[in-house]
Amino acid sequence: MTGTAGAVRVRAPQSWEDRAVCAEVDPELFFPEHSGWAGALEAEVAKAICAECPVCGDCLATALADPALYGIWGGTTRAERKQLRRRRRAGQRGSRRAGHDEGGRS
Ligand code: SF4
Repeated sequence: MTGTAGAVRVRAPQSWEDRAVCAEVDPELFFPEHSGWAGALEAEVAKAICAECPVCGDCLATALADPALYGIWGGTTRAERKQLRRRRRAGQRGSRRAGHDEGGRS
């Protein structure tokens, strides 16, 4: 959707990606190439940018839904997202089990 505000043309964002802070910086930052401390330092720089990004939650949700994505998304590395998915699955199993237990008591 577009409109005008005075003489300035205003374009409403089409998706969360239109508001991504990383669109304004070197994309290489989000795909650390080094291993060890150099790669960790690169990842921390990208994560610091993500921490200021207004669409970090949307970005993280997208990356959590697609295990094939690599690089820094939503302030997380691929390995961190793998851990998050694992914890979510464990939490869901625990919730289902608790619901089953509650159902069994009534
Ligand atoms: S959270 Fe990080 S990777 Fe995701 S859109 Fe924002 S700056 Fe880019």
